[in-house]
Amino acid sequence: MQSGTVWRCQTFPEAWQQVLHLQAAHISAQQEKRLFYTISSFKMTETQRTVQQASGKSLAFHSQKEMFEKLEESFKICAFCEKRPEQLSESQSLKRCARCLNVYYCCKDCQKEDWSKHKKFCPQLRLAAIDRVVEWLLFKGDLPFPTQKWSKPGSEVKTWDDWLSMQGDLSSRLDAIVSGANMKDLWADAGRPRPGDDDLKQSLWRVCSEFFSRPLTVALGLRLFGLSPASQPLTVHLVGAGPGETLAAKLSDYDELNHVFPGHQGIEVVMVGPEVADGPVLRPPLRAFGPKQRVYVSAYRGLYHHFWEELVEKEEAAKPDLVVGFNPGFDASQGLDQGWLPTLLLLRDYEIPSMFTSLTETDMTYSLQILLELEMDLKGSGANPFASLKPEVVGSTPNKPPVFCNSHYFSFQGLLATAELEEPEST
Ligand SMILES: [Zn+2]
Ligand SMILES: [Zn+2]
Repeated sequence: MQSGTVWRCQTFPEAWQQVLHLQAAHISAQQEKRLFYTISSFKMTETQRTVQQASGKSLAFHSQKEMFEKLEESFKICAFCEKRPEQLSESQSLKRCARCLNVYYCCKDCQKEDWSKHKKFCPQLRLAAIDRVVEWLLFKGDLPFPTQKWSKPGSEVKTWDDWLSMQGDLSSRLDAIVSGANMKDLWADAGRPRPGDDDLKQSLWRVCSEFFSRPLTVALGLRLFGLSPASQPLTVHLVGAGPGETLAAKLSDYDELNHVFPGHQGIEVVMVGPEVADGPVLRPPLRAFGPKQRVYVSAYRGLYHHFWEELVEKEEAAKPDLVVGFNPGFDASQGLDQGWLPTLLLLRDYEIPSMFTSLTETDMTYSLQILLELEMDLKGSGANPFASLKPEVVGSTPNKPPVFCNSHYFSFQGLLATAELEEPEST
């Protein structure tokens, strides 16, 4: 999310105004996510917050409970006729679908009319509603759960099942979180019935799959380009990094790479993007090689080509061996020239091995078209075996198939070689 339709608000009041402004209960998943991260970053700076309610509206909240209430407000719209609370008569009120607890209706008739459509998506929407709450445990420190050393070489770990088979019995790790105090507070504050333990455990795994999807996708990219940190230290740039990767990010977030490449010569991960959040990872990248067998994480807030001008070209940051971008969405509405074009051209012209992911197969196909138009040398594409398993609701209507972060990938390096060959004229 380098530019364009980004959620730029830095504080909860700003974010909240944006929601009011959109006047849409079903803000898109991206927006919702940004609201979510904005709220949490606001929460994290609660002590510094004193003058952030300049707008006149009292938008601050004082507890996790109040925050969840405000978040819930943003979903209140009839999924069928799109009426909002203020458009209802006094006797009416929006009621949630009792199965998924994720969509609202203004009346029985609307619910009935919508059911033939909604029933296809209701089960996934139910999971999405659970995950939306459970996700907060990432900020509480309960998640991700600790992982084990790999007992197989990376080349043999091709799927989540392969990975899980090396993790031993997860249930003791998950049980502790399910019965923990943070989980209890979460559901009390969320104003939702607490799901059963099995539902919660599955949700914990889905939320973690999104987290671990990132280092495992980076590892996949290294392998696709034949790059091995066993023989030399490697630098990976995560381009377009946003709050999703950087808010509450810890220096250990990519430590799973130590398990993928045991005994490696040092791996540096630099997250670069205009929406990089404050935190311990916001520190300068390495000039020289970092410590062996460690992953060194840093971040730069700004556009990627600025990062190159300011640091890489002045040799204050290492050139990348691999560039990875998570779910950028080279979307037409975003205006490619405003957003990703300078980055894509830079990657092409410096012949950097690059891999991006997308939320859907359609997004991937669309992105590949753009890369072809830029005469990029495409190296590979397909379903990502380490896609997030957490369903996300995207777009203005909830009755749509959910999407998954890092669902597909595509890789490229440099310019296509065949560009200027011409057919000889026949005589
Ligand atoms: Zn309605
Ligand atoms: Zn439902």
